[in-house]
Amino acid sequence: MAEKDVVTPEQLEADKSLREHLQLLLENGLKTEIEPRAYTHDEIIAVIARLQSLKEDDYEKKMVITGFTLTPYMASDDDEQACETCMYYRVHQKYCELPELMLPVEAEWSCTLWRI
Ligand code: SF4
Repeated sequence: MAEKDVVTPEQLEADKSLREHLQLLLENGLKTEIEPRAYTHDEIIAVIARLQSLKEDDYEKKMVITGFTLTPYMASDDDEQACETCMYYRVHQKYCELPELMLPVEAEWSCTLWRI
């Protein structure tokens, strides 16, 4: 494991607190842009550009723009889109490592930038 991948207990604890905070926001009705989904290259680039205009710690706005949900999104092709099957999900850390997101998530959450 590369040194940059080593996660300290303090970082894990901070991630846990932030994850719980983000979950509460969603449970309390934070409206996120669940649809339309971003599937084409241009749609993805447009979402990424909006994320890049945000402050790194503006997690609430990041979740709004990327249509976060607390449960997997069911795509029309029957693909179940959940963080746990996304290429950006760090399993052991329960963390999204998409550079424009970089935030702790739960395995069953989902967002429009889900990729397999
Ligand atoms: S990019 Fe993937 S891991 Fe990150 S929040 Fe979206 S679905 Fe979850």
